[in-house]
Amino acid sequence: MSALLEARHVTKVFGGGLLRKTQTVALENFSFRVSGEAPRITAIVGESGSGKTTLARLLLGLVTPTKGEILYRGKALQKLSGEDRRAFLRDVQAVFQDPFEVYNPFYKVDHVLELPIRNFGLAHSRRERRAMVEEALHAVGLRPEETLGRYPHQLSGGQRQRIMVARALLLRPRLIIADEPVSMVDASLRATILGSLLKLNEEFGISLIYITHDLTTAFQVSQDIIVLYRGSVVEAGDVEQVVRDPQHPYTRLLVGSIPLPNPDRAWQGERVLGRPAAELAPISASYCKFHQRCPFAMPICVQEAPPLFQTGGRRVTACYLYREAPALQAEELVTIFADGHRQQAAATESTLDGETS
Ligand code: SF4
Repeated sequence: MSALLEARHVTKVFGGGLLRKTQTVALENFSFRVSGEAPRITAIVGESGSGKTTLARLLLGLVTPTKGEILYRGKALQKLSGEDRRAFLRDVQAVFQDPFEVYNPFYKVDHVLELPIRNFGLAHSRRERRAMVEEALHAVGLRPEETLGRYPHQLSGGQRQRIMVARALLLRPRLIIADEPVSMVDASLRATILGSLLKLNEEFGISLIYITHDLTTAFQVSQDIIVLYRGSVVEAGDVEQVVRDPQHPYTRLLVGSIPLPNPDRAWQGERVLGRPAAELAPISASYCKFHQRCPFAMPICVQEAPPLFQTGGRRVTACYLYREAPALQAEELVTIFADGHRQQAAATESTLDGETS
C-alpha cells in the first residue's frame, strides 16, 4: 500500500535567477515516508538554515521541489486535482509558528473554526457545526465559553495556538505538520500545547511531523527523529537512542546545549564548535557540510560527502567516524523507520481488535 505522504529524493534550491545569481540549497536529496496506517510522531530538528521549514512547506505543497517529488497516496502532489486535491487538503493539516499570521483580526475565532467545516461540508446544521467546534476545543483543553465570541487579540498566544490545533483536528486529518508550534509562546504554555498535539496522536490516531530547533521538546513528544544540517540528514532514528547517545558531532553539539540528566555524557559544556551554519562558506557536494565546525574532521571529510551509515537497527549517521558500518542510499532512510511503523500498526490493530471483541 502506498504511503500517505512521501518525499522522494527531494532537493530545493532557492535563487539563481536572472537577478539573484546566488543559489541556496535549502534541502538536498531528502527521502522520507509517512505511513497511512501507523500514527507516528517524527521530529525534524535543526538550527536556522537547516532546511526544516523548507521541508514543511514542500510537504504541504506550498513550494515545489527543484528535483525529486512529493507524493500523496502515490500521486505527485503538484499534479493532484479534483477529489485527490480535496482529500489531501483534508488529510494533511498544518500548525504554524505564529498563529497571528493565520488569523484575520476582523473575524472572531468562531469564523476561523467554522470555515473548514463549511468548506468541506462537514455539518448539516448550525447546531451540528457548533457541536463539532466545541468538541474540538475541549480536545485541546479550551473552554468554548472562554474562547468563542472573541477576537484573536483578546486571547493569549497559547490559546490562539491551541485554537489552530483544534482547527486542524476538526477535519480529522491523518497527518499534522507542526512547524515550530511552541517557539512563540511562554515556556509555561509549551507543555499544554505539546500535550494537545500528543493527544491528537494518541486518541485520534493522527501522525505528526514536529519541526523544531528545540531538541528538548523533540525528545518529549516524538518517537522518531531526523536531524538536518544545511539541508542534509546528518542523523536519524529512534529519538531515545539519538538524544541519549548522539553519534554525529552536530547532534552531539545540539544535545550538549540542553540540560539532559545524563552523567555519562562526555559532551557537557562543548557548546561552541565554530561559526553558525549561516555564516559558513557555500556548500559543495564534495565534502562533509559540517567539516568547518567539526573537531574530528579528517582528510576524507573534505574529499567526499559522507553517506548515511547504518549504525544500528533503526539508526543512521552521516559521518566518517562510523564508516565501518554499512552505507545506505539516501532513499533507504525510509527503511530505518519502517520497523517502528510496522510495530505501531500491529499495536493499533490489536487495540482495535480488543475494543471490538
Ligand atoms: Fe566531522 Fe568528518 Fe564526521 Fe563530517 S564526516 S562530522 S567532518 S568527522
